[in-house]
Amino acid sequence: MRLEGVHHVTCITADAPRNVDFYTRVLGLRLVKKTVNQDDPTVYHLFYADEQGSAGSDITFFEYPGIRRGRAGAGMVHTVEWRVTSAEALDFWEERLRPDTAVLARDDDGVTFEDPEGLRHRLLVSTVEDAPLVADHPEIPADLALQGFDGVRAFSANASASRALLEEALAFAPVTAPERGLSPGSAWEARGASRGGLYAYDEPPAERGLGGSGTVHHVAWASSLEEHEAWRARVAEAGGSPTPVIDRFWFRSIYFREPSGVLFEIATLGPGFAVDEDPEHLGEALILPPAFEHLRAQIEPILTPLPDPRTATRR
Ligand code: ZN
Repeated sequence: MRLEGVHHVTCITADAPRNVDFYTRVLGLRLVKKTVNQDDPTVYHLFYADEQGSAGSDITFFEYPGIRRGRAGAGMVHTVEWRVTSAEALDFWEERLRPDTAVLARDDDGVTFEDPEGLRHRLLVSTVEDAPLVADHPEIPADLALQGFDGVRAFSANASASRALLEEALAFAPVTAPERGLSPGSAWEARGASRGGLYAYDEPPAERGLGGSGTVHHVAWASSLEEHEAWRARVAEAGGSPTPVIDRFWFRSIYFREPSGVLFEIATLGPGFAVDEDPEHLGEALILPPAFEHLRAQIEPILTPLPDPRTATRR
């Protein structure tokens, strides 16, 4: 059994309208599901991804209006890494990002930037053969667009404490790539039959981490539907305290904290976002899973009004 790389990355925003603007207009992703947090249905859960809403390209945000700004520390993901195809794409993004956000670094291998709330991203020229996961955007040619996740980097003061769970229970393979700052014992790849995703640790800053806007809440790894229960059993056998399987309607999930403190999820590839919406119109209407539909009249007036990003940018 192998996990198929990153399924999704879930983060926190204090400002859903600005978040929609940045991830759709600037980064060129598609808003593929506009729904509520299933653990707190008074706030949004927004999903951005490629044109099909594919796992492997899906970055999601819980909106907590007005929540304090967070910062990444030990036990938290600090950077989301995305693939692009070429150095030309890095040039394109360096220029495209500057009016809207802070470009922190540009080197031969990548562009590092923060979203408007300080969430860090890095674009890397991809060296793998995985299928590109691209959204349509009128200003971004497909060969320059984001191609899906390469992986995530987290802070850990004790990466060796996580090794057994990552390698033995989750079948992550150790990776060493000094040119990317990946030293032995600090980086792994979860690679399945179709996709791979990197998980790497860096030394944490002295300051403690603080949950809040601009931080990553959890990272989900992708499993087939058939193997999902078996992954749960392996995590439990390794002492990982997974939750029961939770039906998230568009996929099934288990959650557990890995030993360095990062919240992991294992989510299934399918049924997918088109199960309750026309693929042509993903993300346009507020979608509530069936268990929450009876709350619609209470929920809708509480939520922050959002523009339809495609109407806003295309007409
Ligand atoms: Zn999740």
